[in-house]
Amino acid sequence: MKEAIDIKSLSLAGVTEALAALSEKPFRAGQIYEWLHARQAADFDEMTNLSLSLRARCKEVFEITVLEPVRVLSSRLDGTRKFLFRLKDGNVIESVFMPYHYGNSVCISSQVGCRMGCRFCASTLDGLVRGLEVSEMLDQVYRIGKITGERISHVVVMGSGEPLDNYENLVGFLKCITDGKGFGLSARNITISTCGLVPQMYRFAEEGIPVTLALSLHASGDETRRELMPVARKYSLEEVLKACDYYFEKTGRRISFEYSLVHGVNDTPGEAEELRRLLKGKNCHVNLIPVNPIKERDFRRGSGAEIVNFKNILEKSGINVTIRREMGRDIEGACGQLRRSFQSEASSVP
Ligand code: SAH
Repeated sequence: MKEAIDIKSLSLAGVTEALAALSEKPFRAGQIYEWLHARQAADFDEMTNLSLSLRARCKEVFEITVLEPVRVLSSRLDGTRKFLFRLKDGNVIESVFMPYHYGNSVCISSQVGCRMGCRFCASTLDGLVRGLEVSEMLDQVYRIGKITGERISHVVVMGSGEPLDNYENLVGFLKCITDGKGFGLSARNITISTCGLVPQMYRFAEEGIPVTLALSLHASGDETRRELMPVARKYSLEEVLKACDYYFEKTGRRISFEYSLVHGVNDTPGEAEELRRLLKGKNCHVNLIPVNPIKERDFRRGSGAEIVNFKNILEKSGINVTIRREMGRDIEGACGQLRRSFQSEASSVP
């Protein structure tokens, strides 16, 4: 038997082609695409403007990827909800729903695991399993919208995985989710976070999808950055910052720099001064993230006063800085932590 086609991963042109192979007219493809993406249908039986026979035929040829929530944790502190989803092949991924004053944001994963090896990150401890399909990225947003009953206005690709290491599927996901015939999210309300894969950053600047690019900076000099992030051994700070400038020139979107503060490693006032010099004159935003300790490593965060002092030093130069508001601290908010605790529970079951 032929394997079913993952129809939610197809563009409208792709659906049209697949339906032409079934001798169906293009407008049928438009209808199906709308059901899948504008209305997030989970089953062909919901598609009531299709004949019963076409629905039956579609069920034979296609499959609709729908993620299965295996655990949902709700923060009592701030309304954050964390979802652990099971994929068709049994892998699990995590996504987060965050209500903000400006709208509801969903943070999605782009890969199962990660191979970038950042020292403080839980997602990468067991390496990369695989990149997510377009449908698996989309359905994190769709399922969370359906389950919460809330309108999702913002998406951040900041969960597990390195989005630019799953390039084709990331771009497919972005084209689909911003498509006015589908979910119709504004590119301006999407942020992609990268550890700094330089060639892919240049390529991404040419895609014509003006999302916000966030760069995980985490240090003001190459030496410290290499200690924390193996990818920095491949691309220097100078190279990665140049790629950021290029992205800004091409898209007009100012870069957001993420800086996880790790006590005694990159959070000294001296580091803040260096960072201030490095970013001076750039049209950017710095997001400070007090490191979320993971049990596999002994990284810690500094005191509240030290963190505020770091911020003040940057602000003195007119740099726009925020300290990431911690969301869902009581529900294992840090990337990859929930998946890991689920896996270790599952493997300790006799
Ligand atoms: N691969 C992407 C997305 C990673 S998650 C990237 O590297 O940007 C989003 C941000 O959280 C990144 O800046 C990442 O470095 C940071 N991060 C991961 N684990 C963390 C932890 N335990 N504490 C603080 N920040 C963390």
